[in-house]
Amino acid sequence: MKLLLFDIDGTLIRSQGAGRETLAYALEEVFGTAGPLADYHMSGKTDPRIVMDLMTAVGISADEITARLPQVYEHMAARGREIFPHREMHPCPGIPELLAALHHREGVVLGLLTGNAHLTAPLKLSAAGIDPVQFKVGVYGSDALDRNQLPTIGIERANQLTGYEFSGYNTVIIGDTPADILCARAGKVTAVAVASGWHSAATLAKYQPDHLFENLTDTQTVIETLLAK
Ligand SMILES: [Mg+2]
Repeated sequence: MKLLLFDIDGTLIRSQGAGRETLAYALEEVFGTAGPLADYHMSGKTDPRIVMDLMTAVGISADEITARLPQVYEHMAARGREIFPHREMHPCPGIPELLAALHHREGVVLGLLTGNAHLTAPLKLSAAGIDPVQFKVGVYGSDALDRNQLPTIGIERANQLTGYEFSGYNTVIIGDTPADILCARAGKVTAVAVASGWHSAATLAKYQPDHLFENLTDTQTVIETLLAK
């Protein structure tokens, strides 16, 4: 059995800045300011980490930010429902073919491991034409501020759901940023990096993923890599 945990932005889909737009809206609604969002690098960070950094920068206390995170997620999702269908959101190259090939494959549990909040993740996938229901396990930014805590949570969820004993050696994280590779390392799981997001293959290589792809278009090779013992 293999547990495959896919990142969303830059790995499964390109969201064309729509995520940033929902965050700006939600922060304005909840805190009255988006803080220094324009200069902030969101790549690979969880939603609560981003909110914490931006709102701490304008002097709001960590306790207040934490207390209001659920409201932020609600507003992000509400805005996402409005704008995502009108943005050019689409799957990354090779993703529809890869998911179709993996979906009914024996011994594969498909999952998500993303910095997105739990409410936003399925909206983004749907807007890009990917059915979120096929991912049986989900671990989200709203589960932990620190992305490196997400693999353990994901494995626990998969074990509860399937009754199977997943651990580091039969779990794979597929992501497009150095943060995905570091998070896989923290969870002692296999790291598969793909340069379909904002980071070049040369940059990702510096973080020494177990496997590195320019994109996931070679379905057969990708599947062999993901399911390798
Ligand atoms: Mg990503």
